[in-house]
Amino acid sequence: MGRTADAVVVGGGIQGVAVAYQLASRGLKPLLVEQEYLASGSTGRCAAGVRQQWGTEMNVLLARASIKMFERMEEELEYPRGIEFKQRGYLILAYHERQWDQFLRNVALQRSLGVPVEVLSPEGAREIVPYLSLEGVVGATFCPEDGHINPFRAVEAYAQAAVRLGAEVWTFTRVTGVRVEGGRVVGVRTSRGDVSTPVVVNTAGPWSDRVAEMAGLHIPTYAQRHQILVTEPVGPVQGPMVISFCHGLYCQQTPHGSFIMGLGDPHEPRNLDCGATWRFLEEMAAIVTKMLPPLAQLRVVRQWAGSYDMTPDAQPILGPAPEVEGCYYSVGFSGHGFMLAPMTGKLLAQVIAGEEPDLPIGRLGPDRFARGDLILEPSVV
Ligand SMILES: Cc1cc2nc3c(=O)[nH]c(=O)nc-3n(C[C@H](O)[C@H](O)[C@H](O)COP(=O)(O)OP(=O)(O)OC[C@H]3O[C@@H](n4cnc5c(N)ncnc54)[C@H](O)[C@@H]3O)c2cc1C
Repeated sequence: MGRTADAVVVGGGIQGVAVAYQLASRGLKPLLVEQEYLASGSTGRCAAGVRQQWGTEMNVLLARASIKMFERMEEELEYPRGIEFKQRGYLILAYHERQWDQFLRNVALQRSLGVPVEVLSPEGAREIVPYLSLEGVVGATFCPEDGHINPFRAVEAYAQAAVRLGAEVWTFTRVTGVRVEGGRVVGVRTSRGDVSTPVVVNTAGPWSDRVAEMAGLHIPTYAQRHQILVTEPVGPVQGPMVISFCHGLYCQQTPHGSFIMGLGDPHEPRNLDCGATWRFLEEMAAIVTKMLPPLAQLRVVRQWAGSYDMTPDAQPILGPAPEVEGCYYSVGFSGHGFMLAPMTGKLLAQVIAGEEPDLPIGRLGPDRFARGDLILEPSVV
């Protein structure tokens, strides 16, 4: 007789391990299957910034709940190595009046949901980052609870806790097919053999559309490259993450002293290319040294790329696939799937286990695209 599992989770990034842990903590025995090593996809390539300063209620609620869960994670998951959660804030800069109006609306929403966010003049922003160039800056917002985590540690913490609770993790194993009979999931095919299961959770990140196709499903996700670089380490000079949506830029000093920074490029082609380019280095250097001039003295030591798993509205698809019973999605997180994972993992596990979810997630279902009910989040990089 072949292997069986209560659920098969496809993909061992932050979403997969969070769902596997939450399922295991509800008494299920999930099997997580990862084609390479854990965090080998976007999770291990991301900046792992976490912020609550969003412009839609859903994102503020998901991010706020996740930050509370990150704060308790080492204790809850019994992970003494630590996830290196540094809450030094996010400083978000506005560069034109229309954007500033949007920021003020965001702040009203965030405060109504309990986020401790401050509104700053350009000079107030420079009190937080003293070498910030104020050229073009109209204003800024700052939330001191936002911050940065070590993504490899967070994944390890979740995976170890899931295994302790009875989950199994297969690395270097590929899911090659999803078996569907009579409109419901009955199993998966893997490079290690077949597994019978009534539940498949697609947490395959930039490969999510391919895994959906294995069950005969179409979702409008696509992979898009994002590049990032890290500098030599220097003494502590910058506390918060600095972000500009205008430039698509984020820049943060890590606890080890290196600066880590990235730049979005909406013109990147839709594919899984993770090559690094000179063009990115040149554009990144030009913009960041204008905003934060002393960084021009730093040497770049490493550069890499990862894929965003995009959707048409840059918001995740979370919940059941209406067409196939037992098929679930936690995909399409675009540039913010690390920070939302604790809460989205919990919500999806609650739905799978037949519990009432802590937050209604119906609006994040895959059918919103056909209905034209897109979630328009103004604050994405
Ligand atoms: C440069 C960059 C910077 C970013 N910065 C941030 C940030 O600051 N904050 C933030 O919140 N988010 C950030 N993101 C986004 C974040 O990385 C992702 O949203 C998040 O990591 C998604 O996690 P995931 O588990 O869905 O996907 P992934 O981490 O990509 O995991 C999917 C896994 O599925 C596996 N897989 C795929 N197909 C199969 C198969 N057939 N069988 C078995 N396994 C399979 C893959 O190998 C992969 O490991 C950034 C992303 C990039 C690229």
